[in-house]
Amino acid sequence: MIRFDIISIFPEIFDSYFKVSLIDKAQKKKLIKVKIHDLRKWATDKHHIIDDRPYGGGIGMVMKLEPIYKAVNEIKKLKKTTKRKRKIILFTPRGKSYHQKTAYNISKLDHVIMICGRYEGIDERVAKYIADVELSIGDYVLMGGELAAMVVVESTARLIPGILGKPQLLGERTTKDKGFIEYLQYTRPEVFKPRPNRSSKARGVKNWRVPKILLSGDHKKIAEWRAERRKIINK
Ligand code: SAM
Repeated sequence: MIRFDIISIFPEIFDSYFKVSLIDKAQKKKLIKVKIHDLRKWATDKHHIIDDRPYGGGIGMVMKLEPIYKAVNEIKKLKKTTKRKRKIILFTPRGKSYHQKTAYNISKLDHVIMICGRYEGIDERVAKYIADVELSIGDYVLMGGELAAMVVVESTARLIPGILGKPQLLGERTTKDKGFIEYLQYTRPEVFKPRPNRSSKARGVKNWRVPKILLSGDHKKIAEWRAERRKIINK
């Protein structure tokens, strides 16, 4: 069972997210374990301060090193495993880009500790001496690493057998970055008649139809069509 420990100063952000959906079911089935930790618990002063002014001046506050150091050391003890099967992830917009293959590699671990930053960032010594890897979920700057942690848990968990209730695409379970997108999906109704709208992308198209091949009942042809579409999408 893979264990995810998330360190954040806003633990309540995760409350509803991990309590609904397949992530909750996966936890009940003991396929994964997700624990959220309030970083302030490891602050040493009575006000639970976890940030301070930047050395050298400048705007904003920087998250302090000591509470993170203590949190990570304590959390490491919660799961017995080897150094190779545990990763300490620090979220930062300058980190390595997160891809499907990263999710696949993480899904093979026993223990994932994630550090979510806030404010102007985190004392650089966390990246240098504590984290195994710095990850970015995209080329934009978020207000905090919490969304990134959710992205990692969700994209990784769905690769763990038994969580989705269906086999994953072969392409999802590889260390390559291609081939993980599924074919196009349609459901009822067979024909949808939109209200006329001149500004619409579908201007002039009166009937929005499901591709005929999917209604043909010819499973071999449908499989070929899907395989063809997948190839195009994954190019
Ligand atoms: N000044 C910081 C910098 O340029 O790195 C930005 C800090 S940002 C406001 C606060 C936190 O949000 C970061 O420490 C990081 O944990 C998280 N964050 C922001 N953008 C992110 C991204 N694209 N991927 C992952 N984490 C991100």
